Amino acid sequence: MQTRRTQCLYVIIVLHSNFAEKNIVPKFLNLIINWLFPEKCLICNCEVFEKAVFCPKCFSALTFIDRPICQFCGKMLALDIDDITYCETCMNSKNEFDFCRSLLVYNLFSKKLIMKIKKNADRHIAKKCCSMIEMRYNLKSLQADFIIPIPSHWTRVLKRGYNPATIIAAELSKILQIPMNTKILKRTRKTEYQKNKSIAERKENVKNAFSCSGNVSGKVIILLDDVYTTGATLNECAKVIKSSEAKAIYCITIATTENYS
Ligand SMILES: [Zn+2]
Ligand SMILES: [Zn+2]
Repeated sequence: MQTRRTQCLYVIIVLHSNFAEKNIVPKFLNLIINWLFPEKCLICNCEVFEKAVFCPKCFSALTFIDRPICQFCGKMLALDIDDITYCETCMNSKNEFDFCRSLLVYNLFSKKLIMKIKKNADRHIAKKCCSMIEMRYNLKSLQADFIIPIPSHWTRVLKRGYNPATIIAAELSKILQIPMNTKILKRTRKTEYQKNKSIAERKENVKNAFSCSGNVSGKVIILLDDVYTTGATLNECAKVIKSSEAKAIYCITIATTENYS
């Protein structure tokens, strides 16, 4: 026996598809859909206004990456001076990738957002984040050949059931209409978690932990991870891909920490 809600939904779908064929969806239909299935804040799950992604409280606690940014790592610069286009870290060390761009500054609230993808494989949140990243940076213009998620070691994938970076990369792949490739880059050994390690320890921890197989010669690649901290993992991955003669490597993450020391 169908519930009233299901019957209601069926009528709406029929009406919606009829109107959609004529490229018109009356406002009252959207209102009913929103009433039946209200949008929720991606972070705290409270109901939000139509088409809103975050509630006012969570939105005000987030910092979206805005100019001025370091042209290499994409972290926000403290000073808005025309001559300064790189952060201190990037001025003193060379990155293996061409540039990195992120959506948010990593804080308590963006961490909550990312943890939902990591713990629940939340594709809806991953999709919304990727849409915002595309709106912010117009990644289609990079004309990339592949999107490659930073791989987890197979034992971690087995334990969790999925690789969180793959969940995000799959959504970005759909939005950009660029294939995701999870075969080219492999994690060849299990590494310790990077948390609480110094910059030097992070580099050492991921050194020679990845391998690249398959033809990437002349290809433009988007490397995808959830958070950019020191860039140690993304740099190590970019190094092995570039040694296979990739043309360009661009890194995309949902969040980036403020400068790390
Ligand atoms: Zn909220
Ligand atoms: Zn930088």
